[in-house]
Amino acid sequence: MQHKIGSQQRPLHIAIIGSGPSGFYAAEGLFRQQEFHVEVDMFDRLPTPYGLVRAGVAPDHQLIKSVTKIYERIALRPEFRFWGNVELGKHVTKAEMLERFDAVIYAVGAQVDRGLGIPGVNFLGSYSATEFIGWYNGHPDYENMKFDFSAKKVAVIGMGNVAIDIARILSKTPEELSVTDIPDHVLDQLHRSQIEDIYLFARRGPMQVAFTPPEAKELTELEITVPVVDPAELKLEYFSEKILEKSQERRVMQLLEFLDTISKNDPASKPRRIHFCFRRSPQEIYGNKGVVCGLKIAQNELFEDESGALKSRETDVLEELDVQLVFRCIGYKVDPLPDVPFDAARGTIANIGGRVVDVDSQKPCPQEYVTGWAKRGPTGVIGTNKPDAQETVGFLLKDNRNREAEAKHQSQEEIVTELLQARQVPFVPFEEWKILDQLELAEGERKQKPREKVTTVEEMLRIIQEKKAEESYSEP
Ligand SMILES: Cc1cc2nc3c(=O)[nH]c(=O)nc-3n(C[C@H](O)[C@H](O)[C@H](O)COP(=O)(O)OP(=O)(O)OC[C@H]3O[C@@H](n4cnc5c(N)ncnc54)[C@H](O)[C@@H]3O)c2cc1C
Repeated sequence: MQHKIGSQQRPLHIAIIGSGPSGFYAAEGLFRQQEFHVEVDMFDRLPTPYGLVRAGVAPDHQLIKSVTKIYERIALRPEFRFWGNVELGKHVTKAEMLERFDAVIYAVGAQVDRGLGIPGVNFLGSYSATEFIGWYNGHPDYENMKFDFSAKKVAVIGMGNVAIDIARILSKTPEELSVTDIPDHVLDQLHRSQIEDIYLFARRGPMQVAFTPPEAKELTELEITVPVVDPAELKLEYFSEKILEKSQERRVMQLLEFLDTISKNDPASKPRRIHFCFRRSPQEIYGNKGVVCGLKIAQNELFEDESGALKSRETDVLEELDVQLVFRCIGYKVDPLPDVPFDAARGTIANIGGRVVDVDSQKPCPQEYVTGWAKRGPTGVIGTNKPDAQETVGFLLKDNRNREAEAKHQSQEEIVTELLQARQVPFVPFEEWKILDQLELAEGERKQKPREKVTTVEEMLRIIQEKKAEESYSEP
């Protein structure tokens, strides 16, 4: 017998792929509306939820990470199920999802670093932001990384908040880091750091930097590190002056004030320094027997293009710096999903307002939606994903209005369990993630830190199995 999709007899069944902020805001949007009965099944390739909130947001920004409390409330709703350790494209296909759900929302983020196409980029000692940040945040993909912190000089390419996060983590003392949830094996390596100078490079000038004033302020509060900038670097060229005269944007004014203040800092006042270097483009990473030993940098000049945008171009003035570590923080890009239309020009899953579309015809692909960084590219803070997800959910609900379908003979939970068991995927439901969560928090409390993360999937699964076995043994 046919029922309206979204009725009590035949709820609207949605799969969300990815459990970062955008996935949870999409779930929240689906639960908040009153018109449809909705059930949400959320899948993540990791056994742990929360995407970049767990694995990207800096470990010394615990207040920001506490947004997961809101996500947990969503996850505990009876109409919600979490399937951790399940990867779309590896364990399940898009076709299998579309067959079992009324709609699929891709919320897979932007997991890959944009490449820096210069010679020497693959030398040992040159790392992407994803690798380093994943490692210090305990992401299982980067658990085996090794960094040589006997380096005295480090280059960080880029000057957005991600670059600032990296510089700050490299600048802190063991005591400052001890109150974070950086895993112990990472802290052991960071504690041996011999770093003295961290150079941050921006392509354009002080007025065009992308970091934000609160992050800048934190750099002035570090125990053994002083931020410095050569006053000559702060001289604005004609075009920037012109822009500044017209717009007195608060963020820019605060950053210029910060830079002016630190230009008066004494570099010798603390044993470690963060140097702000503007109008520079890396040209080549030098290596000695395959290991980073220096960086060639070109000075840039700024110019106004035909559209009036301020661009940089390299001059033939070159500099060399004997750095031993290079971190590349020039942005992220979306990793295409198998069989899902990808807009190479925009670098996102092809979509209009969150409806996935065919790349050539721009016609919507029925049942497929996208949200978050995978939809709009890697820009915006956690909160930006909320209106973004609402837009996607709005289209999804509109497309499912007045549709009918037969009631299902099995519950959605049985349908998904059957599929995953056939694939022999050791999936992790939310209550099993909570076993891990509790253990990480308890271990953290014992060590007087926010949490001690488990950093390999094998260990996560082993802990969950052991705890479940213990519980079933103790049950009467
Ligand atoms: C280093 C860094 C620091 C940041 N710090 C801040 C900050 O301090 N404050 C702030 O507001 N914002 C910060 N942001 C931005 C914020 O993290 C993003 O806006 C947000 O995480 C984007 O959410 P998302 O859901 O689109 O992607 P993500 O958070 O990346 O979530 C994507 C999820 O999809 C999963 N996934 C991927 N592929 C698959 C697949 N094939 N199958 C199943 N699951 C899959 C991933 O495992 C992940 O859990 C930071 C970003 C970075 C990179």
